[in-house]
Amino acid sequence: MNDPLQKEAPDDAPGSKAQPRQRYVLDDTGFNEVPKKYRKFYRKFGGPGDTLAPNEVLCPVCMVVVRSSRELRPGDRVYCMPCFSRLIVIECNGRLEARPVY
Ligand SMILES: [Zn+2]
Repeated sequence: MNDPLQKEAPDDAPGSKAQPRQRYVLDDTGFNEVPKKYRKFYRKFGGPGDTLAPNEVLCPVCMVVVRSSRELRPGDRVYCMPCFSRLIVIECNGRLEARPVY
């Protein structure tokens, strides 16, 4: 695995002008609950005042922020390594959220 983003949502209706996904450079966040090479893909959530970037989504299972090197969109599937959860990205109240997939 080289990115938590496992499967991108299919583009919207044919002919839609879906914008290319923005890419992000990830830094090591010091998150030490996964092997070193994966640390940049996760970080601790800072609480209610923490703002998530377009490439980040909060894992509702373990409350860790999952970070992708690409912008996330509703329908994406991401993997949370710290708790081994498979998640699907949804839009809720104008923000991206993740729900577990069983
Ligand atoms: Zn998790």
